[in-house]
Amino acid sequence: MEESGIRLETKLIHAGAPENPIEGAVSMPVFQSSTFLYCGQGSYHDLKYIRLNNTPNHVLLHRKLAALENAEAALVTASGMAAISAVFLAFLSPGDHFLAQECLYGGTHGFITKDLAGLGISCDFFDGDDPDSWENLLRRETRVMYVETMTNPLLGVADLQAVADFSKAHGLISIIDNTFASPVNFRPPEWGYDLSLHSGTKYLNGHSDIVAGAVIGRGELVEKVTHTLNHLGGSLDPHACFLLDRGLKTLAVRMRYQNDSALEIARFLEAHPKIENVNYPGLESHPRHQRARDLFDGFSGMLSFEMTGGVEAAERFIGNVKIPFVAPSLGGVESLITRPATTSHSGMPPRDREALGISDTLIRFSVGLEATDDLIADFDQALKK
Ligand code: PLP
Repeated sequence: MEESGIRLETKLIHAGAPENPIEGAVSMPVFQSSTFLYCGQGSYHDLKYIRLNNTPNHVLLHRKLAALENAEAALVTASGMAAISAVFLAFLSPGDHFLAQECLYGGTHGFITKDLAGLGISCDFFDGDDPDSWENLLRRETRVMYVETMTNPLLGVADLQAVADFSKAHGLISIIDNTFASPVNFRPPEWGYDLSLHSGTKYLNGHSDIVAGAVIGRGELVEKVTHTLNHLGGSLDPHACFLLDRGLKTLAVRMRYQNDSALEIARFLEAHPKIENVNYPGLESHPRHQRARDLFDGFSGMLSFEMTGGVEAAERFIGNVKIPFVAPSLGGVESLITRPATTSHSGMPPRDREALGISDTLIRFSVGLEATDDLIADFDQALKK
C-alpha cells in the first residue's frame, strides 16, 4: 500500500502487508518453513532461508518498521543485543575507535568494554550534555557515535540533535538505541540519525512474551548489517515475527497510555515525602525537560527514583508493592519494578555505576497498562509500610 502521508497508527496496522491478503487471511500467516525453493538467485544473501531473515514474515516487518520511523530500510533480529552486536561488528574492525554515551544499558556497556575491547576495538565515553568536549575525543580511526534516546536507567536526554550533526560533520555513523522512546515518541531518521536500534522485546512487542530486535535506517547501512547478521546467525524465528507484528498493531494506543500514566505516577512520587528524587523527562523538574519537549512526542512509560532510607527501604518498598511484578525488562502491558544494580546493570562494575549516578538504591519502574489510580494507590500503601 502507498505509505506517504499515512499516519503512524494506520502504518502500525497495515504497512508492509501483502497487497493481496494470502488466502484472504486478514492476519499474516506464519511461514514456518526453514527453507524455500531455489528460484535462480545469484547471491547467497538472496536465498530464502530463515537465518537470512528474509521469509515473508520478516519482509512484512522490515517494511513496517522502516515506515514507522520514515526510514529507507529495516531489519529484524533475534534480540535487541543481536541488533546492537551486529551493528557494531558490521562497522568496526580491530584498530577502529568509536564514541559512546556514558550512561547505557548494562548489556551494551558490557559488550563495548569486554567483547569489543577484546577484539581491539576501542571506545571513549562522552558526556551527552557537553558537545564542546566531543571534538577532543576524535581520532583518525573514529568511525561511529552511539547514544540512547533516553538513557537506561537514569532517563537522561542527551543533546540528540547535536550528536546527529556532529556525526555528520565528522563522517561518523550515528547510531541510537531508541528502545525507551519507541517510534511513537521519537523517530531518529527524521533527526538525521543513520541507524536506530530497538530491543523489540520491549515496547514494540509489548507483551513480555518474545525477545526480538530491530535495526532501522539508511538502506546501504541496513544491508551491510544484514550481511553481518546472516553470518552471525541472529535471525528472528517466524513465529516470533508473527507475535512482534501482532504486538506492533497496538503500539500507539499502548504507548500513549503509558506516557500519560508514567507522568501521573512521576508527579505522585515527586510530591511524596519519602521520595528523594524522580527521573522522568516529562517532569518540569527534569534537567533536560525542555530538550525532551523539543525532541519527543511523548516521554515514555519508564521512570526511575530513589527513596529515603537506603537499600533496605528500597527493598522493603519493592517487596510491598502488590501490582507490579518484580522483574527486569520493560515496555510490557504489565508493570515491572526492579533495582538496576541487581538486574539490568548488575554486570557493570560498582565503581562505574557509582560514577554514572546509578546508585544501589535506584528503583526503575516500567509502567504497564493497569489503571493509573490503582498503581498510585499501590505505591502509596507500599510507601506507608
Ligand atoms: N537496549 C535497551 C535500552 C535495553 O533496555 C535492552 C534490554 O533491557 C536492550 C537494548 C537489549 O535487548 P534484548 O534483551 O532484547 O536483547
